[in-house]
Amino acid sequence: PDNNTPPMPWFGMDIGGTLTKLVYFEPRETNRRELDKETEVLKNIRRYLTRNSAYGKTGRRDVHLQMDNVTIRGRRGTLHFIRFPTSEVGAFLQLARSKGMADLVKTIYATGGGAYKFEEDFIKEVNMRLSKMDELDALIAGVLFSDSMNSHECYYWAPPDEQPVHQSSTDSPPYSEAALSMYVRKPFDFSSPYPFLLVNIGSGVSMLVVNAPDDYYRVSGTSLGGGTFLGLCCLLTGCSSFEEAISLAASGDNTTVDKLVRDIYGGDYARFGLPGDLVASSFGHMCSAERRAKVSREDLARATLVTITNNIGSIARLCACNEDIERVVFCGNFLRVNPLSMKLLSYAMSYWSRGALKALFLEHEGYFGAVGCLLNLDM
Ligand code: ADP
Repeated sequence: PDNNTPPMPWFGMDIGGTLTKLVYFEPRETNRRELDKETEVLKNIRRYLTRNSAYGKTGRRDVHLQMDNVTIRGRRGTLHFIRFPTSEVGAFLQLARSKGMADLVKTIYATGGGAYKFEEDFIKEVNMRLSKMDELDALIAGVLFSDSMNSHECYYWAPPDEQPVHQSSTDSPPYSEAALSMYVRKPFDFSSPYPFLLVNIGSGVSMLVVNAPDDYYRVSGTSLGGGTFLGLCCLLTGCSSFEEAISLAASGDNTTVDKLVRDIYGGDYARFGLPGDLVASSFGHMCSAERRAKVSREDLARATLVTITNNIGSIARLCACNEDIERVVFCGNFLRVNPLSMKLLSYAMSYWSRGALKALFLEHEGYFGAVGCLLNLDM
């Protein structure tokens, strides 16, 4: 380990519009001497974070994402992934104070809009300075680092025959449960990734063209993102959490809500290759009072998910075509516990590009900004 490394503990924090992501590096104790050097407070912080998976009322550690054997600035150790709602930043600061963190940690490396918004609060409440990093710089650094450290970081959803899903309008319908259930998760070798389109689906959506680690630009975005899905779902179904919204959607049927090509044509719109099962008008059936009276919460959640997902898929596809890019990497917490959206995106990317585009996904979903921030902690 070089001598310029900052003092432990090492954290990277991404204070987003909905969720705050905290990545903690737990150094491996190499010998007795190192262990003795660890102060009591430091030991307590390590124990508290690594022995629990819930913190306060809303803090959660994603134990399944834990990354062992990573090397950062010459130190080997384990990365732990923790999240809590950004609305609970106040409670987090109180907790940090009660665990003695406020005395030990003078600077937190932070990114995301909240690093600006809450800067004063961190100083006032716990006397911690926020060292800020740009969120898109952090995002890309985090993606590349995670992929280099974790051999199964990048994956895709393969259709059963590994062929382009759809060549003619007579194949199985796009959104049928049967078609989607046949997709299986497979690892993707991301060792020569450039160029790729990075689509980060958080509260809102950003799309970046990445040509090299330090060569990227933001091409597009949309305000119709994960926050829109959850907001509309809460309004339409009365659900109160993302998990609930996703599980409603998983058992719903969007065709009672959306108007399909066949509802308008009675079948396919063959001349332009549009299959009857394609959505022609999202929520189009909901203009009818009769239909509204019959629709279920599950169906409404499903339609909201399909609408938001396909809209993001369309914009991503247009950007990729425009930029002559074949690989589209999706990340962000909208994809958390949400295989349905990933399969829909995989299907849509392949279908509408006649197999030319590939949708890729990353295991650490929404944590890359926080990881990138942690890597930067020498600055
Ligand atoms: P941001 O940085 O804008 O907070 P994230 O990448 O953390 O973005 O994604 C936030 C989105 O993730 C939410 O809009 C929601 O769709 C989804 N999400 C996943 N898990 C949760 C959760 N536990 N609570 C709230 N939203 C969640």
